[in-house]
Amino acid sequence: MKKYHLLLGAVVLGLVAALFWPRALKEKETEVSLLWFKGNTHTHTLWSDGNDFPDMVVDWYKEQGYDFLALSDHNILSRGEKWMKSTAIKSRQKGDGPSALEKYRKRFGEDWVEVRGEEGAEEVRLRTLDELRSEFEEEGRFLLVEAEEITDRFERHQVHINALNLEELIPPQKGTSVVDTMRNNLRMVREQAERLGKPIVAHLNHPNFHFSFTAEQLAEVVEEQFFEVYNGHPGINHLGDETHPGDEQLWDMANAIRLRKLKAAPLYGIATDDSHEYHGGNVSPGRGWIMVKAERLEADLLMKALESGEFYGSSGVTLQDVSFRAGIIELEIEGQPGVVYKTQFIGTRSGQEAAVGEELAVSESLQPVYRLRGDELYVRARVTSSRDHPNPSYDGQKEQAWTQPVGWKKLINGGQ
Ligand SMILES: [Zn+2]
Ligand SMILES: [Zn+2]
Repeated sequence: MKKYHLLLGAVVLGLVAALFWPRALKEKETEVSLLWFKGNTHTHTLWSDGNDFPDMVVDWYKEQGYDFLALSDHNILSRGEKWMKSTAIKSRQKGDGPSALEKYRKRFGEDWVEVRGEEGAEEVRLRTLDELRSEFEEEGRFLLVEAEEITDRFERHQVHINALNLEELIPPQKGTSVVDTMRNNLRMVREQAERLGKPIVAHLNHPNFHFSFTAEQLAEVVEEQFFEVYNGHPGINHLGDETHPGDEQLWDMANAIRLRKLKAAPLYGIATDDSHEYHGGNVSPGRGWIMVKAERLEADLLMKALESGEFYGSSGVTLQDVSFRAGIIELEIEGQPGVVYKTQFIGTRSGQEAAVGEELAVSESLQPVYRLRGDELYVRARVTSSRDHPNPSYDGQKEQAWTQPVGWKKLINGGQ
């Protein structure tokens, strides 16, 4: 009998192992094959109101170690023939020092720079995205994502939406209200994505620029999945003022409305540069970016990872990993010597009386963990470094990272 039991035990064990081992191995393999890619999705060049040549801008980001970059000029794609007067280029620079054209020639050589016309009245041709791609892209190392900042407005309200991975220009669609303007533009993004059969991500930019959006408006347009929780432009009122909430507060307020009242998915938060100035000046590059977890460095895969929330925003803090499994959020912070990292788990609990965007827990560990209690509408993490931001966009800025809200899928109609 004993032998029989042992044999049965072995058989059962074998069966269990056969059932679960391959899956466990497979899951592990999938995890191992995912990589983090660093990118900026909001960048301006001479194609609209930036003050440097697109090749100089792309070169800067690539040299800084970014894996991908989206040039997102206002209502234009980097396509076709475009010439610019050197005097117009020069007039966009502040202060003395070499001109953008001089620096451009020095970096790429006389042969690369295409100039026409008489000296003093010469024009320079701007390189197209196709040309930039063949010059800078390297498989698995550097990728350019086509983008446009659809730049619309309703009365004094600025409605700017970045469309990433599109192929055809979307002119601003206008509307009869802030919400309607946003909806009309997003409809065109969706229409193009469906027609071309490719993922196009649309993120609403700088909601506090001219204090254009309220939390209610951000909440209402549930077809918008992304907004900029941090934008490096110093003029976008990131922290709000006496009468307006800051961008992060807006995020919690809008997400609380979505989950509590509308049973809709929350907004994900993107961090970007919105860089315009590359010769000194205060609208400079390198302040905000996203880290995206994907299998390979391909635009479609990056877009899908964004749609699944597989990313975080950063203004200087790096996470080796962030995960949400079985009701537990875990972060792994890449620590630097002498720097302290404060992680706040921020969320909103169910119940009309519960505070919006409250601090649920705080940790100074490099591996902070939060176990959901069950009454949270969502929880997100914000990591703040003790280190000053090396190129701050507002006074007293520290380096930070923002992870996406989790734990909300059970509240959505038909969700898990
Ligand atoms: Zn804008
Ligand atoms: Zn912009």
